[in-house]
Amino acid sequence: MNPYDFVPVSWENKPDRHAPIWHDRLIASGDQKLYTGSLDVEIKTETPLFIRDPETSTQNPRTPGTHIRNAHGDYIIPGSSLKGMLRTVAESLGNGCFTLFDGEYEYKNHRSTVDYRNRLPDEFRRCQQNTKLCITCRTFGMMQLSRERDRRGAGIDVFQGKVNIGDAVAENAVLYESPVFTAVLDGPKPRHSAFYLDEQQRHIAGRKYYFHQPKYARDYLHTEGRLIPTTRRNDAPRDPLRGGQGEIEYRNQHILPLDYGNVFTTRISFSQLEANEFALLMIAVALDSTMRHKIGYGKPLGLGSVKLTPTRLQLVDYARRYTDRVNRGITVYEGQELTDLIYNRLEALGTDVANAFYDYDSGDAISYLRYIWGWDPESKVAYAYPSRDWFSGHSRARIEDTANL
Ligand SMILES: [Zn+2]
Repeated sequence: MNPYDFVPVSWENKPDRHAPIWHDRLIASGDQKLYTGSLDVEIKTETPLFIRDPETSTQNPRTPGTHIRNAHGDYIIPGSSLKGMLRTVAESLGNGCFTLFDGEYEYKNHRSTVDYRNRLPDEFRRCQQNTKLCITCRTFGMMQLSRERDRRGAGIDVFQGKVNIGDAVAENAVLYESPVFTAVLDGPKPRHSAFYLDEQQRHIAGRKYYFHQPKYARDYLHTEGRLIPTTRRNDAPRDPLRGGQGEIEYRNQHILPLDYGNVFTTRISFSQLEANEFALLMIAVALDSTMRHKIGYGKPLGLGSVKLTPTRLQLVDYARRYTDRVNRGITVYEGQELTDLIYNRLEALGTDVANAFYDYDSGDAISYLRYIWGWDPESKVAYAYPSRDWFSGHSRARIEDTANL
């Protein structure tokens, strides 16, 4: 079975854009209730996890790349990685614009015969003006590409967003049993357009997500015995280990991941979210108990399955901050109370929040995502990229045709 699939987009349903609501004074002047506070989240690794420490190389045959740590030496999941992951989920569930990050959206594949950039309807392109932002740009901020800044210089629109995510920290993290040379991850090229386009071959297929591989990633992680060099027919031997000169490129990585069973904790702070923005943030984190998120390197190999559990929600109502002498406008949900609040689709927090949560929770996007990110610890489905031969024999095949490779 192909290791990824897409959560499709209903293209007739355009992203709803407006200026982000942001009051200089914390107490809103109108009737609209805004949500400010923090959500504490526990993140448990369900399979090994690897996010490279940028100071270490993953292509050194002798020394493996190591997982990123903070200044105290604790292993972390960077807040930026978490934000990227939650943002993509929010884009899918909340019908946001398409942003580019982590190179996940491979529309610019030079070897491909299809230019995927032209297959994304204009209304779904990344938001450009900070007065017309989709729900994910209003919540998580506008995405920017550095080269755009260079080209156009000052005056480019910016919105920082209303959500901040701290690095998730694991104390006393346990490493995987040994360093590994990962399996080769490069898929067949050119990209198989029947996978990346919708059935009518008109638009892109949607947003890409990788299936979980509980058994394979935990019990029999597929690896190589060494780094595998890129073969270049017209190139002199470049492998320095064999007397060649210069940099050699490899098709896999040498890494020491963290093991499954590690627990990280982080805090998500949010400020002045509209009801539907708050509901979207909550469901992007909580999903439902049958699902897991996926983050970091090696997703096609089964690495990076994580379980997110909200542990404490604190809401601050600034309108009651100085009149409520007991709680100073602060409401806290913890443990079972928080589980119940989410299970009841945030009903206790007001109709607008509950209605928005219900819409995300019963929409098409989450059913597709549930199919891809559903978690069955006993699943033994084998995932692999189809071979080049398979593609030449099945030029129009779609992802579902790979079920019995
Ligand atoms: Zn946007």
